[in-house]
Amino acid sequence: ATPISRRVDRIKPSPSTTAAQRVRELKAEGHQILDLTVGEPDFDTPEHIKRAAIEAIHRGETKYTPVNGTPELREAISAKLAQRHGAHYSHAQIAVGGGAKQVIFLALMATVDTGDEVIIPAPYWVSYPDMVLANDGTPVVVDCGEDDGFKLTAPQLEAAITPRTRWVVLNAPSNPTGAAYNAAELRALADVLLAHPHVRVLTDEIYDEIWYGTGRAPTLVGVEPGLRDRVLVTNGVSKTYAMTGWRIGYGAGAADLIAAINKLQSQISSCPSSVSQAAAVAALTGEQDFIAGMVATYRGRRDELVRALEGVPGISCTTPQGGFYLFANCTGLLGRRTPQGAELGTDEELARYLLETQQVAVIHGAAYGSPGYFRISFATSNAVLAEAAARIARACAELS
Ligand code: PLP
Repeated sequence: ATPISRRVDRIKPSPSTTAAQRVRELKAEGHQILDLTVGEPDFDTPEHIKRAAIEAIHRGETKYTPVNGTPELREAISAKLAQRHGAHYSHAQIAVGGGAKQVIFLALMATVDTGDEVIIPAPYWVSYPDMVLANDGTPVVVDCGEDDGFKLTAPQLEAAITPRTRWVVLNAPSNPTGAAYNAAELRALADVLLAHPHVRVLTDEIYDEIWYGTGRAPTLVGVEPGLRDRVLVTNGVSKTYAMTGWRIGYGAGAADLIAAINKLQSQISSCPSSVSQAAAVAALTGEQDFIAGMVATYRGRRDELVRALEGVPGISCTTPQGGFYLFANCTGLLGRRTPQGAELGTDEELARYLLETQQVAVIHGAAYGSPGYFRISFATSNAVLAEAAARIARACAELS
């Protein structure tokens, strides 16, 4: 076989992508799977956004754009950031890429050398550790327990920082827990960060609009503007505007970091899709009213789901504050036996049991660095969620 680089050998494919693929295969074989692995909105991209893309095609906007995105898109992103963080980002402080995922990868590629450390609070989005590994860095995973709301505490951050620390990654609202930091928690983290000027912070805010609290969730830059040049804010249109397939995300931060990201992008993809950029401008500058309706729908599903699962002995949940995932605690089920006599020793075995006996697909917690849990996506219909919750209850009742 042809040799594959150590860089690629040490990473794995994204577990969520793998799970989604497995569900597609089972469905193709004719199985009726209740799919709770979905990492994208079940809403359609709003009509005015699609129309903007079609009009861009007709105007001939089908060629390369500037590496860092069209001026119109950077302007729209700058306006969104001003509203969200109370801070002005110039065009030179904004990078646009093929999804937030690409921007995060390029940010790490631009800053991480062999052995450099990146602090990743667990439960984490599955891609962070592998992205660090792919860039020859060392993920430093910090276990954030449910008792702390699945959030990194200031003492944990202080203890994890070393001279090799390049980044700490903060994702709120979080995938997979829906947890978000309040202003006091951000203040405490900011105080630690101010004492360690060599550490940058990546704030992944991709779920910021899918928020169930009153008002808006506070941001690190809003709480401590003095950190602004050390924070890379990443976000995109995938989740808020149901645009996962259009692949537009962005990063905002210090101009030198943004320039480095753009330099890499110039050699990797030249620019993001021109048509998708036109659609993203329409998304960010067009009417925003449908977001509230979408969030209300997610909230209703979240409440139903929490209610249904709280009634299942062995399962408990912390109610997510944002996003569309529930991270259910299943430690009460581990060690129990299936009707076939197999012991469910791990969350992964539990997930397999749910898939094989009830055709309910969830993702096991260990994939997010936190064994003893499983993730349910509620970006799916109420009917599917209700049926899935009933089947999970049935499967659990059959354990001895
Ligand atoms: N960050 C988190 C926490 C996510 O859950 C996702 C998508 O699942 C992304 C980033 C990537 O989003 P994009 O579609 O913009 O690449």
